[in-house]
Amino acid sequence: MFFDDDDYTTENEERLVQSTKGEYDVEENVLRPKTLDAYVGQSKVKENLTVYMNAAKKRGEVLEHVLLYGAPGLGKTTLAHIIAGQMGGQLKMTSAPAIERSGDLAAILTNLNEGDVLFIDEIHRLNHSVEEILYSAMEDYALDIIVGKGPSARNIRFSLKKFTLIGATTRAGMISNPLRDRFGITCRLEMYTPDELKEIVTRSARTLGIAIDDEAATEISKRSRGTPRIANRLLKRVRDFSTVSGSASITLKDARFALGRMEIDELGLDEVDRNLLKSMIVKFDGKPVGLETLAATINEDAGTIEDVYEPYLLQLGFIARTPRGRVILKGGYEHMGYTPTASQSEQITLFDKKGE
Ligand code: ADP
Repeated sequence: MFFDDDDYTTENEERLVQSTKGEYDVEENVLRPKTLDAYVGQSKVKENLTVYMNAAKKRGEVLEHVLLYGAPGLGKTTLAHIIAGQMGGQLKMTSAPAIERSGDLAAILTNLNEGDVLFIDEIHRLNHSVEEILYSAMEDYALDIIVGKGPSARNIRFSLKKFTLIGATTRAGMISNPLRDRFGITCRLEMYTPDELKEIVTRSARTLGIAIDDEAATEISKRSRGTPRIANRLLKRVRDFSTVSGSASITLKDARFALGRMEIDELGLDEVDRNLLKSMIVKFDGKPVGLETLAATINEDAGTIEDVYEPYLLQLGFIARTPRGRVILKGGYEHMGYTPTASQSEQITLFDKKGE
């Protein structure tokens, strides 16, 4: 049920700018910063966690349960490693889809030692019976098991060692209230600025022994969709191109050439993003469109659009989520080289205001 980080791939087919983990991220563990100081950006989260961890240590208690949310590749797993390291506990990793029955979770919980950190990825996907086991485990460090059936059924309570649960999710809205209420600490990870991503690219290049010019690192960071995982992945792909061309150090020219060949544009958008924006303009004439319809039109999975593509397009202000569906905004038209027609402009005005 536990798996190594390196074995952890998702069912999504790998795409370069897709932020979910794929085959190209095998060196991910090597690149993970080991301390909060080395963890770039997310200053608010770092400050708060430092206070909570120091306070727990001072009181000789385990850290409260932590809920981390944010798009894939923003550093949730990395933070879990850092927290476990700093609190001196072992990190046990699993993901909600891997815990099929409540017995699976009971086995995991009873194997935890005092101060261990249990990381459950995609925690919004826990099934109901498993989630119920988690309530008393989180609240009272106890496992309530029902033995027998019908009138002779009895509740047996086992006590557990005090542990910290770290739940990670891309969809905070899909977590049930009782589960959410049991997390003492909630941290929302933001997308990274190009400067922060540049720091990550430069640091990763150093770790992997890759020589890279300053402008080339800037170029990669600008096209990484605010996501460290993508920044690291692009660095490695650009290195491949640069190795083949025989450069001693990755130059700006190498980076531009490689990113161009990968069809990643100057904002980090790829074919799928562009298809999505184009179909919103051409097929749907700038009118609001439902997620499922959009997904079917561009032949992508609705969940992938929501988790992987949309967050960055929303961040750029290219699209908006409205009660009537997704709608493309002015920046989206401009980036795709279209001038909105009169009726499309009306839609933009209507929804741009509502989205604020
Ligand atoms: P998530 O669990 O949110 O999908 P990860 O924690 O696996 O993301 O991060 C993906 C990669 O990005 C890691 O290999 C790590 O090296 C890098 N990374 C993430 N956040 C940071 C950060 N704040 N500073 C430096 N590198 C980071």
